[in-house]
Amino acid sequence: MTRPPADGPLLLRCRTLVADAASAPLADAGVLVDATGTVTRVAPYALLADKAPAARTEVLDGVVLPAFTDAHSHLRALPLAEQDVADADLESWVVRLTGATALDPGDDALVAADGLTATGVTTVQAVHHTFAGPEEYTASVTAVARELVLSGLRAQLAVGLTDQAEFSPETASGTRGTPAAPHRGLRPDRLPPLLAGLLRSAGRWPGVRIALAPVAPQWCSDEALDALRRCAADGVRLHTHLLESPHQRGWLADGDDPVARLDRHRLLGPGTSAAHGVWLTDAETALLAERGTALVHCPTSNLRLGSGDARVRSWLDAGAAVALGLDSQHQGPPDMFAEMRAALAAAERAGGPLTSREVLAMATEGGAAATGNTGRLGRIAPGHRADLVCVAVPGGIGTDPVEHVVHEATHRDVSDVLRAGRWLVGAGVTLRGAEANAARTRLRAALFADRAARARRMAALAPTEAALRALLDDTNTRRLPPNDRTERYARTRDRGEA
Ligand SMILES: [Zn+2]
Repeated sequence: MTRPPADGPLLLRCRTLVADAASAPLADAGVLVDATGTVTRVAPYALLADKAPAARTEVLDGVVLPAFTDAHSHLRALPLAEQDVADADLESWVVRLTGATALDPGDDALVAADGLTATGVTTVQAVHHTFAGPEEYTASVTAVARELVLSGLRAQLAVGLTDQAEFSPETASGTRGTPAAPHRGLRPDRLPPLLAGLLRSAGRWPGVRIALAPVAPQWCSDEALDALRRCAADGVRLHTHLLESPHQRGWLADGDDPVARLDRHRLLGPGTSAAHGVWLTDAETALLAERGTALVHCPTSNLRLGSGDARVRSWLDAGAAVALGLDSQHQGPPDMFAEMRAALAAAERAGGPLTSREVLAMATEGGAAATGNTGRLGRIAPGHRADLVCVAVPGGIGTDPVEHVVHEATHRDVSDVLRAGRWLVGAGVTLRGAEANAARTRLRAALFADRAARARRMAALAPTEAALRALLDDTNTRRLPPNDRTERYARTRDRGEA
């Protein structure tokens, strides 16, 4: 499937080109790509027909769009149902997740990356988090990075740091009946040497950029946040979960809140992106927009974990850069088109509708902004990398190709995916499909072998989950500001969506 190596310009003849989310579609368009994988010209095909040799001219017979960025992932290969981790509210789900089978990180990343490229993603921002010590942490990041390089996926791999309050709020310490709060994780002083070693190795991982993640501000001590800031001062990007559930505002002691805390530690800025943001106030959204911190919307994940619907309309209106993230919450193959539709549906529920072009912009230019790739990715335009996806439209596209793609397409319609002018998917076949299938078989064998032990671990977690649930139900009304959003959360929960 891999095309011949580049020797001279590549000319792509596109049946319909959507060069970016805002531009009018072009019929029979040409995209000229130089030997480095950068777009040099976009014009009617007839004007470019003599600019490349016939052997370097390829027809893309469908709707051609900028390739997608999945701006929030955990690079999980398999749906969590296969791990017996059922959907629940976020806090219970985090407890359940600790009972899951530890899988080979390389195989996990290989299968996850293969699924993402198949749906038109060429860039992923992934949080990689373990509770292991520095050596094991380095080994697992290395295994993941190697697979990402082989898959051809461009990646920003955010190494997660947590050192406190894994399950229960800081505010609950000492409360009778509080579930055990193991403080597992990396000591903050271990972070700089771990990062330095990874940055040295990253030279061997083309296309993979090492970043850092506080995972979530409520799970990090002040010392940990300071360590992150010192590392970020050298230009390392940051990615974090932020106000995903309504409980996280009351998680910190002394009335502190996650956004103010990140800002106080000078962790908000254009080098940071934050995922979820369901419970941001308008003032906090305005602050994030002012700081240049991109927000990553994860509508499927928010729905499945009962977190609520983010008010994305208000983010866009505030001028924030907004990206889209699958959060590894797929139940079948990952599908960026379904995620765009989930964003439309979530916006309707939240009372601030979005247009098809706005959600396409989130999946493309917004993703570029959230990964520090503005001006380089997210559009098919001169100076940008030739990252694009071709969506087959056997039944025709009606009047508007963007409406068609956002409303009708699925991952199965992706025929071609190019990263920097190189094919990652051709005729619907991924670069590493066979290896991914073998890895998937190994992962499922590991899950099967561990099934009895996993069942025992899950059973042992039930009391922790119940105690946490009781604690949060009890404190929910006391800690949350009594506004309509709290009531909306309760309604969502009562409808059984949580
Ligand atoms: Zn996440």
